[in-house]
Amino acid sequence: MNHVNKDWHLENKMPDKPTREQRAKWHIEHLKNCTCRVPTPAIQALIDEYEE
Ligand SMILES: [Zn+2]
Repeated sequence: MNHVNKDWHLENKMPDKPTREQRAKWHIEHLKNCTCRVPTPAIQALIDEYEE
């Protein structure tokens, strides 16, 4: 069962109109802090593009 890190989500809202980079950074931090969802292939590709 996936765990939702509610505190993290409350403190890390996705911007209203995120750029591609903002979305990538959000998902990278999200993966480190929360396991509420598994990245789709599209999200994983976005992460791979921006991850340092
Ligand atoms: Zn989450």
